[in-house]
Amino acid sequence: MSYVEQHDIEPVGKDRGAEQGDVDGPLECSLTLGQVATAARLDVHESQRRGDLPWAFEGERSSVEEDARLPYRDYDERLAKAAAWQSATPAARREAAGRRALITDPRHEIQKSGGIADFWYLDDGDILCDPLLVPAYLRAFDEANKQAGAVRNTKKTEVIFYATRAELTTNSSLWQLEELRRQATLLTPEEANFTLGVAVGGPQAVAEQLQQKVEVVRAMHSKIVICQDVQTENVLSKQSLGIGRINHILRVHGHALLGNPEQIRGFDDIAKTTLDRLFPGLSSNGHEQASLACKVGGLGRQRAVDTALPANLSALILAAPKIRSMAQAAQLAGLIDEQRLQAQLDRKVQAAHTAYLEGLGDLEKRCAETFLQKARAAAEEQWLRYCSGGGSEAVQTPASVALVDDDEVGPSLNLSTNSEDEAPDVEAGGRRLSAPHLQRELSRLFDVTRLRTLQSQLRTECAWEQLDRLKELRHKEVSHKWLWHLDSRKGSVLSEADYIANVQRRLGARIYEGSEQCRICGAVLDPYLEHSETCATAEATKGHYACVRSLVEGLRLADPQVCTEPRGLTNTQTRPADILTTAAVPGRSAALDVCVASPNAAAARGDAAEAAFKRKLRHYRRVIPQLAAAGIAFRPLIWTADARPHPAAVRTLKYAASLAATRSGVQADSSSLLSRWKHEITISILRRRAAMSRAVVPRRNAMAEWLLTGVCEDAPSSETRAMELDVADDREAAFWQARAAE
Ligand SMILES: [Zn+2]
Repeated sequence: MSYVEQHDIEPVGKDRGAEQGDVDGPLECSLTLGQVATAARLDVHESQRRGDLPWAFEGERSSVEEDARLPYRDYDERLAKAAAWQSATPAARREAAGRRALITDPRHEIQKSGGIADFWYLDDGDILCDPLLVPAYLRAFDEANKQAGAVRNTKKTEVIFYATRAELTTNSSLWQLEELRRQATLLTPEEANFTLGVAVGGPQAVAEQLQQKVEVVRAMHSKIVICQDVQTENVLSKQSLGIGRINHILRVHGHALLGNPEQIRGFDDIAKTTLDRLFPGLSSNGHEQASLACKVGGLGRQRAVDTALPANLSALILAAPKIRSMAQAAQLAGLIDEQRLQAQLDRKVQAAHTAYLEGLGDLEKRCAETFLQKARAAAEEQWLRYCSGGGSEAVQTPASVALVDDDEVGPSLNLSTNSEDEAPDVEAGGRRLSAPHLQRELSRLFDVTRLRTLQSQLRTECAWEQLDRLKELRHKEVSHKWLWHLDSRKGSVLSEADYIANVQRRLGARIYEGSEQCRICGAVLDPYLEHSETCATAEATKGHYACVRSLVEGLRLADPQVCTEPRGLTNTQTRPADILTTAAVPGRSAALDVCVASPNAAAARGDAAEAAFKRKLRHYRRVIPQLAAAGIAFRPLIWTADARPHPAAVRTLKYAASLAATRSGVQADSSSLLSRWKHEITISILRRRAAMSRAVVPRRNAMAEWLLTGVCEDAPSSETRAMELDVADDREAAFWQARAAE
């Protein structure tokens, strides 16, 4: 609204908000504007006491306390009266209340029937004001501004009359609209205006703002294609063009917007188009899965339709105590009927509450009810703390989590913390009670219900592989960091082709649309290339050794003597272990046998890791006693093809990491070492999977290869005139001839 002069800073009118200015700006600005606002308010009240301006009354004039109408008398007398009230006994107060004596201190920010209640956020002020007082208030405000060396921006000053256009016409001269028009922009509540970046006003205004955002996001989506890298584009489009773009609008209007979901679907459609381009072959189930959090197997691409209610409800819960105390202030100032406003607020919160609960499954509904109750109480407490000058740190968001311990969704569903696995949350607010945090908790409960629905859908479609995969992926030991990890200096990054193949596999996309046979065994290929999981054994073996290498890299930190392919452990020809190390089992050497087990293998139905673990023990049952006699423990280290470790592998890694941390001589943090290590192992498992998929699909012919890459192994030379091309038609032959002729 105005600019504030700051020391050593050129006094130019800033068009930016104070919060975006220099570091001292917000504080200095708030303090100065606080003084200006107080001076303006007191000035108006002064005139009211002198009888130059009217007092404000809500409802019946006769119900108003006598004292408020008393003409201005002695300021000191009023001060004394207020002081006496402060020290009065309860009995005296009751007696005074019976006489309806004025009890407001003349210095108090809200004067009884004073007609003004102002609320400020840094340099943004909302002043609730009796229409009769508006011109006087603006004059007083401008006058007070002079002392601070500030100027009010008349263009940015909006006066919103809570009246119809007809009422405005009727009261035109009484409210001095002619003069006000020179001072500010006059509006009615239905007309569009922006409060803290969100359009308020009629539904049309909100729809327009949303539409505008959609257009901007659409344009940006088409621009980031320029980076020519699927990983970067995926991360960028989620982090910068995702739900965060419209979250603030959803917080204010979420529930209302769901009444006409086409508008917010427009936003979701853009993200869907991008996802379809980046990862071809996604079904509707795949899109549904992508919208779930990474921890439960999705891509964390929240959709607006799913976010609208959690966003709106969390904002309402957090704001309700604030609005209530604003309403109380406005009632004291004689502006509104607090009860009516309160009832309206309650209806709004209740409606969003009911709508949110309706979208949840029974179990989640019960959890949500308890959670929301606690959240409301916490919001209340936080507001009280703010008002009494305390910080908000002590007030924490109640945890919603322990709850989803359910057979169907699995006990492994751990939604609690925001670890490295999830993409960094732009608005993460820790556990402190805040709208983003509340919203996240509510969204998570919603995710659980949607996960359940997705699972039953997969079951109906007999998509058992995908159902198993979902279960694997939401295990708490699975690392999802690879999805968001772009910086190759901080850990391995998948190649683009491997990344796409793995995301497609994760989401159960149709990867192969042809009708040809497996290149290795000649079996008919399924579109999901599940066949590759069990067929491409050569690639599987190569990937296995890559896995062993990643493991050894970590083990070497704890045991420099670690060796691979140890020989002579037993008197037989079998080599039961990939790794021999002292860093895996306390006090003993251990022979580690690494295995990546595919859940698709017929023997692995149920728990693939456990099945492989038992298989290994059975297979080496004759060798294990020999090893034990030599003081060596045998330990199969199993990961599934979705990079879920067997519990024994988890224990081994944890032990080795803690050993490495203490042995390294630097102050290493074993848990972050472990998470980096897990990431590296995951990357080698995912690379293995991508290579296996590639191995089964038919090789591209020379033409296709050249079209795709511009490089051709059988580069056209003079021989190519006579070369036998694997031509499909004459056009292709003509193409080659033309090229040769160049
Ligand atoms: Zn095959």
